Amino acid sequence: MGRYTGSVCKLCRREAQKLFLKGERCYSNKCAMEKRAYPPGEHGRTSQFRRRSESEYSIQMREKQKARRMYGVMERQFRRYFADADRTTGQTGQTLLVLLERRLDNVVYRAGLARSRAEARQLIGHGHFEVNGRTVDIPSYQVNAGDAIRVRERARDASVFAEIRDADGLVRPPEWLDVDPDTLSAVMTALPERQSIDVPLNEQLIVEFYSR
Ligand code: SF4
Repeated sequence: MGRYTGSVCKLCRREAQKLFLKGERCYSNKCAMEKRAYPPGEHGRTSQFRRRSESEYSIQMREKQKARRMYGVMERQFRRYFADADRTTGQTGQTLLVLLERRLDNVVYRAGLARSRAEARQLIGHGHFEVNGRTVDIPSYQVNAGDAIRVRERARDASVFAEIRDADGLVRPPEWLDVDPDTLSAVMTALPERQSIDVPLNEQLIVEFYSR
């Protein structure tokens, strides 16, 4: 199945939760969840009052879908992340989240160098970022502790980065990122740990989904 190209706000409404997929708008009263916090579709408004008794499977699957949508990862790739996490020692769910957090598009977003993960993916794809001095245009690139990420010098004056600078303050970098807004750069000082990953996800449900 291809990448979802419909309204991303519908995804939040379906999950009944803000997934922060649209940058600045998510923090404003223009957010669809502020105005229409019910599922999309013809019967959405009435269905919010009807509590469906969801099966365990459906709850686990929704959590997995939510994670995929938040990080913008396709099913096949998500499965690979899970398989990698499962092979690694430690708690599979937490390892899975760490792998997702270490994606370059997520790190760029977390550092405030893009307003959403989708924007980060696009800017990385256009070759605007370097890791340790080398251009990386692969959004799924796994960033390591000690890696330095920055906007390439020739891209710094682009209007998109001026707008991103103006949006400063919307995103507070996590403790594992040392960000320098002046040079549009960041260093991953340590690998992220679960307690510093603020995503509204229950990773255990995802583990249960794939362990069925
Ligand atoms: Fe979700 Fe952001 Fe749209 Fe609000 S504005 S519904 S948080 S994507």
